[in-house]
This record gives sequence, structure tokens and C-alpha cells, in this order.
Amino acid sequence: MHRRLLILSLLLTAACGAPRVESAPRPATDADYLRSRDLMVPVQGVKPSELRDTYNAPRSGGRAHLALDILAKKGTRVLSVDDGVILRITDNELGGKVIYIADPSRRFVYYYAHLDEWKYGLKAGDKVKRGQLIGSVGTTGNAPKDTPHLHFQLMRMGSGGRYWSGTPINPIPYLTRTGDER
Ligand SMILES: [Zn+2]
Repeated sequence: MHRRLLILSLLLTAACGAPRVESAPRPATDADYLRSRDLMVPVQGVKPSELRDTYNAPRSGGRAHLALDILAKKGTRVLSVDDGVILRITDNELGGKVIYIADPSRRFVYYYAHLDEWKYGLKAGDKVKRGQLIGSVGTTGNAPKDTPHLHFQLMRMGSGGRYWSGTPINPIPYLTRTGDER
């Protein structure tokens, strides 16, 4: 009898003292997160299989490209790859007419350059949806005038929200949907 009680109490102690197995949600890696975004090719009608990987292509001054060039006829619709918020719409020497957009959690930045035009009325602070029209393919900035294309760059958001100086990531594996205006 004593022996039985002892065993019972030992079992109870073991049960109550055992650490509860609780797996805290593991923060998604950049790759996991980007895959979950289900990104769209940002040019109307272009399939993922049609993209050419120009991410590591050399550029002037010994730089690497660190972005994708998506060739299309001038005026072809440029679409947002993801839901998000417009950070900046501006004109710069190299990129020409450009747009910076953050994903909903502001973890990544999507940069669109050489636009012929921005979508009329679009402004910083506006929310956008994946597949939403944001501009058109062009040759503004330093793009060759006979090769209209979208220069698209994916970056991790820079520290302190410096969206213009984030760390580039090759977007090719994450652009899984055909460009299709919503
Ligand atoms: Zn480019």
C-alpha cells in the first residue's frame, strides 16, 4: 500500500513538474516570408518562366546589377508585386521615374524604375494591392532609349526605415504569379 502511494505520488510529481512543451512561433526567415507573399511579376502578361535572371549582371563602375530588368513594349502596364504602401514617388538621374513600395509589414521594399509614367493620382501613403496598376514601362533615367524595360529591385528594408539603402535580394525565386492586372 505504501509502495503504491509512493509510486503514485512520484508519477504525479513527474507529470506536474514536466516542462510544458510549447513551441514558440519561430520568426519566418526572409525566404519563408517572401514565399508567403506570393509575388506577382510586375509587368502585365509576363510569366515567371519568361524572366531572365539579370541580378548578377555587371554594370558600369564595377557594380553588379542586383535587380531584374523585365523587357516589354513602352507603355506596358506595370503592376504592384504585392500588397503594400507607397513610400515615395520621385524622379532620379539613374532610375528616371521611380516608385518605392513597402510590403504590409514594412520588412521589404519594392523599387520600380525607368517608368514612362506613374499611374495618375498615385501618391506616397497610398495603399496598393497585388496586381494594381502603378505605372507603365519606359526608358526614363539611364535606360537605353531603344530598350524599354522595367528595372525591378527587391530589398530588405534598411535600418531605421531607410528604404533607399536596403540590402538587395534576388527576387526571381519569389515572383511566382504571372503579371495580371486586378
Ligand atoms: Zn536594371
